[in-house]
Amino acid sequence: MIAKVEPLTPARALRGPFDYRLEGELEGVGVGSMLVVPFGRRRLLGVVVGVAEESELPPERLAEPLAALEADVPKALVALGLWVAREYVSTPARGLALVLPPGTGTGAARPLVPRRSLRAALTPVGEAALGGAERLGTRQRAALEELRGGALGAAELGRRAGSDHSTLRSLERRGLLRLENALEPPRRPRLRSVGARSAPGEPTSDQAAALAAIEARLDASPGSGPPLLLHGVTGSGKTEVYLRAVAAALERGHSAIVLVPEIALTPQTAGRFVERFGDAVAVMHSRLSQRERYDEWWRMRRGEARVCVGPRSAVFAPFGDLGLIVVDEEHDGSYKQEGDPRYDARSVAERRALSEGALLVAGSATPRPESVARYERIELPRRVDGRGLPPVELVGMLGASGPFHEETRRALDAVRRRGEKAIVLLNRRGWSNFVSCRECGRVWECPNCDVTLVLHRAAAEVACHHCGHSERVPRACPDCNSVSVARHGAGTEQLERELEELVAPLPVFRLDADSAASDGVEAVLRGFEEAPAAVLVGTQMVAKGHDFPDVTLGVVLDADATLRFPDFRAEERTFALVAQLAGRSGRGPRGGRVIVQALDPAVRALTLAARHDAEAFLEGELERRAALGYPPHGHLVRVVCSSAEEGPELAAAAALRERIAAADVPVLGPAPLFRRQARHRAQLVVRTPRRAEAIAAVREAVEAVAADRAYAAAAFAVDVDPQ
Ligand code: ADP
Ligand code: ZN
Ligand code: ZN
Repeated sequence: MIAKVEPLTPARALRGPFDYRLEGELEGVGVGSMLVVPFGRRRLLGVVVGVAEESELPPERLAEPLAALEADVPKALVALGLWVAREYVSTPARGLALVLPPGTGTGAARPLVPRRSLRAALTPVGEAALGGAERLGTRQRAALEELRGGALGAAELGRRAGSDHSTLRSLERRGLLRLENALEPPRRPRLRSVGARSAPGEPTSDQAAALAAIEARLDASPGSGPPLLLHGVTGSGKTEVYLRAVAAALERGHSAIVLVPEIALTPQTAGRFVERFGDAVAVMHSRLSQRERYDEWWRMRRGEARVCVGPRSAVFAPFGDLGLIVVDEEHDGSYKQEGDPRYDARSVAERRALSEGALLVAGSATPRPESVARYERIELPRRVDGRGLPPVELVGMLGASGPFHEETRRALDAVRRRGEKAIVLLNRRGWSNFVSCRECGRVWECPNCDVTLVLHRAAAEVACHHCGHSERVPRACPDCNSVSVARHGAGTEQLERELEELVAPLPVFRLDADSAASDGVEAVLRGFEEAPAAVLVGTQMVAKGHDFPDVTLGVVLDADATLRFPDFRAEERTFALVAQLAGRSGRGPRGGRVIVQALDPAVRALTLAARHDAEAFLEGELERRAALGYPPHGHLVRVVCSSAEEGPELAAAAALRERIAAADVPVLGPAPLFRRQARHRAQLVVRTPRRAEAIAAVREAVEAVAADRAYAAAAFAVDVDPQ
């Protein structure tokens, strides 16, 4: 037998698969097995991607693998990893690394192996000895007594009965107990939840109808329809539908995957799954240690865990009998991976569901136009408690001074007087946007990126949000020595201070990347939850799916800031941000309201969000996209060329452009991008309805140009379906 092995090396140039001869002990090897193989003078870890009777190479030129690892990957996942590699213009090794046990990857580090430890179990002879006349020492008797309740680890037994290793060995020799090297029970990560507890109760009639539709599809033959889109307003009880859908999949003997945006941000959702399914759930949390991830992976691989809840990488959970994939908050940008391979977990989920005969259910209050156009929609048009969505007021900020509109001030003051809770969103962290010299106009910029530095007052520094560069807050201008430094624009840090004055004595909690890094998201959310009255201020992190029943006011500041970026998703993002924040307000008996501040409150995305009119928004958005050839009516591929010196990035982009255009694929650019992390950048954009052709043309062009020494100074990053 011949195994076709793809070596897990980060080198782009080394492309398998390579043939190895299988003999003797390794005969059981098949697609998905992991092998250690000789490669030249090196040893590499590889994945079997195919088996064959014969090789094109003569037998004497074929090497044999050195060893097989205990871990193996379901066959379907090998195909999925290779698909990701092709679809996102990456390498097979990087695609496969996604589906392997955690810690195996393409790096040089040694892969983790399961931990084994000694376990002792009572034998029938031992059982009889306890009741009979057998001579037993006190320690020996104590050890056997302890084992009556079931097998125990040697260490635990030692603690309980005071027995040591030699006691156990001698009992084993007499046949009174059995010792074996067993897999250590895996470490289980703990999840603490924040926010309202789930109330299993009876499903509402909308929920029941949604479930019936899902169950009908679980019972239908695989692939008998498009994926389902659960379009439910905020607070309509989508999570309860997911929970019951997962239960339905389990009842039918299948495993299920539940993708959630970021568990650290919304521990509540993942917590509900643990509450409902207990140990059958594996939670892939970003703060797990490598060892914990590895143990969870094995629990899934062995079928002990049948549900995987986690962020985008959970789409690669090692189930062989997958029946359902849920994508919660399907509009969330975090489903896109930023590093190579730049995969989109939503598209991978669709692919995996299709090829493994599983059902895909995506859900959101603000679904993507792409999903609305392509999936079959199920609606939850009402909140579970029958309360309406909160009224949203738009206020214009043109000519206003200070961060708050008069209306907002009054509303916040009412929250203070009545002792209620409010959430304030400003999608800009730090204290001030930028600082400048009042005398000569110098603006403090990042030395590595062509952007201004943001003032962070608590840390007493100005920092770059693109590369992490930071400097002390300037006391004087290095150009003209003036000590008069102006600060422009407000960020969350400054807003926190302003709010503290406005709503005193209510406590103000801040949630953004800075406070999350210092205090932890959970601590901030918990503080806000436990306070009887308080204000939570922060970036879009505050608009995620939190479920706090006692929030009566939501405020969005500078809501049209997103629209000032040249991005075809700007409208969608703006609409979603307002609708999602509105979803956090008025979930309790006191009701709630929302105020949205904008420079131009008359823009479409805002007026429709204020009316909660997702339907009209989606319809208009799909029309606009059809006219412009944007997704789902066209596909985008972005290629960014970069180099340390100025020049090579543009030359490389021009060479790429020529090749892509020669393949008859429409391409725009090169357009220069702002310098980032000390690299000059230029980008090309392909926009076409012919997806496969475009991806193939880009792949060929990048491979050719990257291999050409004339462009050695340039690096390439390909992004299919950029966000
Ligand atoms: P969504 O995800 O749609 O915003 P959630 O799933 O967070 O909504 O549900 C909102 C609240 O309603 C939660 O506190 C949840 O426990 C509760 N809930 C869900 N379904 C029901 C039901 N059938 N009866 C009573 N309460 C429910
Ligand atoms: Zn100056
Ligand atoms: Zn920078």
